[in-house]
Amino acid sequence: MRYTRLLLPTVKEDPSDAEVVSHRLMLRAGLIRQVARGIYDILPLGLRTVRKIEAIVREELDAVGCQEVSLPLLSPAELWRESGRWDAYGPELLRLVDRSGREFCVGPTHEEVMTDLVRGNVRSYRELPLNLYQVNTKFRDEIRPRFGLMRGREFLMKDGYSFHVDEEDCRREYHLMYDTYSRIFTRCGLDFRAVEADTGAIGGSGSHEFQVLAESGEDLILSCDHCDYAANVEKAELAVGEPGLFESSEPTEVSTPGAGSIEDVSAMLSEPAGRFVKTLLYVADDRGVAALVRGDDQLSEAKLKRALGVSELRMADADEVKKMSGAPQGFAGPVGLEIELVVDLRLRGATGMITGANRADLHLSGIDQQRDFPVAEFHDLREAAAGDPCPRCNGGSYQAFRGIEVGQVFYLGSKYSEAMGATYLDTDGNECVMQMGTYGIGITRTMAAAIEQNHDDDGIIWPPAIAPVQVLLLPVKWKDDDTRAASEKLYEQLLAAGVEVILDDRDERAGVKFNDADLLGIPWRVTIGPRGVKQGTVELRERRSGESSDLALDSAAEHIVAAVSEALAR
Ligand code: ATP
Ligand code: MG
Repeated sequence: MRYTRLLLPTVKEDPSDAEVVSHRLMLRAGLIRQVARGIYDILPLGLRTVRKIEAIVREELDAVGCQEVSLPLLSPAELWRESGRWDAYGPELLRLVDRSGREFCVGPTHEEVMTDLVRGNVRSYRELPLNLYQVNTKFRDEIRPRFGLMRGREFLMKDGYSFHVDEEDCRREYHLMYDTYSRIFTRCGLDFRAVEADTGAIGGSGSHEFQVLAESGEDLILSCDHCDYAANVEKAELAVGEPGLFESSEPTEVSTPGAGSIEDVSAMLSEPAGRFVKTLLYVADDRGVAALVRGDDQLSEAKLKRALGVSELRMADADEVKKMSGAPQGFAGPVGLEIELVVDLRLRGATGMITGANRADLHLSGIDQQRDFPVAEFHDLREAAAGDPCPRCNGGSYQAFRGIEVGQVFYLGSKYSEAMGATYLDTDGNECVMQMGTYGIGITRTMAAAIEQNHDDDGIIWPPAIAPVQVLLLPVKWKDDDTRAASEKLYEQLLAAGVEVILDDRDERAGVKFNDADLLGIPWRVTIGPRGVKQGTVELRERRSGESSDLALDSAAEHIVAAVSEALAR
């Protein structure tokens, strides 16, 4: 490729609206261009990286027996009604109506359409298992699209779905996909962790996320420093812990004027935060619930949502709090409250606690859980944090990392196959429901995550396997005849050897070319200058290490080919 022929609009200044490195560098390096909020053009060099990630994904999936298909952009509403997600999915689902009044959505994921394909074409146990995938554009009307390709509204995803005769075979495939994903992200040159995850809107009973470790990651990951348990904070379990056993007495009203937060009331009464019961009021799928955790614990909304099995959860507003508890915000408590209570495990059997009294400016002290708010069900509702003891081993504790979720695998069971009647006939001719798994990789997000993890102040540092090209030839003085001739020759030699190469044939100052080379992050830069050419040498520099060496012009091509193929084979 010749630089002067490329659509490669690099920019010197940082774009003002880009908050994270990958977004900034992709705009500056001319890889993407924003068309609308969360919607981007991908320009030639950017698309080369996208295609490389896709190629790795396809190779690894095909190697373990997956088959590629292509499902339509639009999904008919009827299929989504069958699964129940037409109503459950919420405003992220972009819905539209065609000219004859039929409803569709722009596919944000394809469980329904894929299940429909398989139920119509698979009859017998002999045709299972089946693992089908596609790589195409998804649309999710994200409430806050941001960070460029990391959280777009339109993005490229590889989504795969597997169908099985029983749970055991489905679990086997889940593990196979887990291993395959690990290979894919390793081949992409990324530092990642696979962690236990919440199942969110997709549903199902087991899930792992593949998280690229990066400071800018939106996800918090907790991992044990002793055993191999690691989980997204939305999922990270906690050991039950001490309940809070204070001296028991009778419930007693305590005046707490204006003290509606644990901080204020604990200061006012000179009692530790751990002696309080924090009562948080929520609206969960249109019903009111009170979630209870100890005053010094944080409630995890993801855990609460799972415990309740609801799809929408939000904190109650001031009016709703008043309606539910009879008191202004900050004074709710479990005693006498007439809505559903969801209680953290750690409060089981707690005694001598202080709670809101469901009246303004009043608390109750001397509250015992069993006597004063007996409940049948306790759940792990606390949000885990760095330093908390690991629930899986003895002596380990959590460390925290930030991560970017690039892929997720789900064990779905029969959630969709049952709702949509995806069945097969077993050996005895009985009709049985298929078991399913689903597996996704954000292709464009993986590209962004690679940059978040691999860059410096000057620009991108592509891992060779997903770099747009491997080599950039940089003639410092294009107008110099010898330099130009040597560059053209090397360019031809590298092309002939099958190396992907850009020749910077611009008549630009050397400084500009060097800056662009660093910005673009091509793994190898070959500098060709008049002085070197006279002495018969060029300089090979590795972008990541910054190490450079002089190569004899005669054998430069051989050296470069060897360096590139060695790095790609790693
Ligand atoms: P998130 O929690 O980040 O919103 P998700 O869990 O909803 O993502 P999945 O349904 O698991 O996403 O989709 C599979 C993959 O698609 C994700 O692992 C991620 O890499 C990618 N992805 C999801 N949403 C986006 C988005 N808005 N922009 C880019 N990639 C995305
Ligand atoms: Mg996910």
